[in-house]
Amino acid sequence: MARIDFLVYLLLVTQLLFCNYGMAQTASTLSPSARVSAQSWQILQEIVSEVGARPAGSSQERQLLYDFTNRYWSQIEGVPVNSQPVTFSVSGVEKRSVNIWITFPGRSGEHLVIGAHADSAGEDEGSQGVTDNGIAVALLLALGQQLGTMELRDSVTLVLFGAEEVGLFGSQVFTTALQVNSRFLTGAPFPTAMINLDTIAGGDHLYVHSPTKKTYKRCDKVDSYNSSTSVRDSLMSIASANSLPFRLHPAYPGYPQGETGEWSDHAPFACAGIPVAYIETTNFSIKGRDGYDGYSQALHPSLWNCLDHSEKTACHPAQEQRWGQIWHTNADRLDRLNQLYPERLFTQLDVVSKLLIDFLTTDK
Ligand SMILES: [Zn+2]
Repeated sequence: MARIDFLVYLLLVTQLLFCNYGMAQTASTLSPSARVSAQSWQILQEIVSEVGARPAGSSQERQLLYDFTNRYWSQIEGVPVNSQPVTFSVSGVEKRSVNIWITFPGRSGEHLVIGAHADSAGEDEGSQGVTDNGIAVALLLALGQQLGTMELRDSVTLVLFGAEEVGLFGSQVFTTALQVNSRFLTGAPFPTAMINLDTIAGGDHLYVHSPTKKTYKRCDKVDSYNSSTSVRDSLMSIASANSLPFRLHPAYPGYPQGETGEWSDHAPFACAGIPVAYIETTNFSIKGRDGYDGYSQALHPSLWNCLDHSEKTACHPAQEQRWGQIWHTNADRLDRLNQLYPERLFTQLDVVSKLLIDFLTTDK
């Protein structure tokens, strides 16, 4: 661990100990979610310093997928690390990636899959893929270590997908394999729920979405599409019972309240008939380039050419180029985000970690 990272880590653990959990506690008595968020933060620094941007199908993407799962998952006792090749072509060029996952067996017949994509986009702009989606990858790597020490009620699969940004290739290959063999995941039952983590930090607010009632266009079979709000609703009731700041996005044309489109890895799961939820940070109250669609993530003036703060939109929409976006831009870098929002990423990471641990341990 580099010295600077260690100091940041110490500072965070100290903050957790003294601010959130009382003076008397020591590191060994940190709650599971505090342990997960502190470790995720450390892993995120390693992803940025050792790998950086990870275009789909690149050697950097495979480096993150193989090296980091080898570092954080392969020593977990009793759970093998599994992988599956993902091949795809972009503009006629064949590329290769991989999905990597671990499955923890539980006592019940329920089986939750939590997934996050490992690739990034916008490297030409200077993006390091920190919020989209390195921080979620770091969270799943740390969560694996934590789940390895717990008795689980439900089976849990943590999966890192390749090649999301260029067409959801990894999650599509994964769900296709599940549909061919329902016990494809190390003998665990067919998944009963899926939570997708994509851009869980950076934006102004934390949202939980369910899929649109209207069948996603990408689904081959309309009959199996699952638009259930059950996973979203359970997450929201746990969030409200624990005063965690998650919300549903308001209704806007084409998107009823709390529903989201097919642009991330939850979509192939919904098509495969699995109830899904998607955790994301953004800001649906901003009037963006195409309306209130969540593409504009934040109201920090540095993320706009010119922000009309009172109207929450661009001063000159025809000239605006940045539109409050972090994803796929040179704002999606650790140095930049630490400057724009010194505490935001860690705070959001910490509440997502709490929500997931509470979801896994709360009696239904
Ligand atoms: Zn993403």
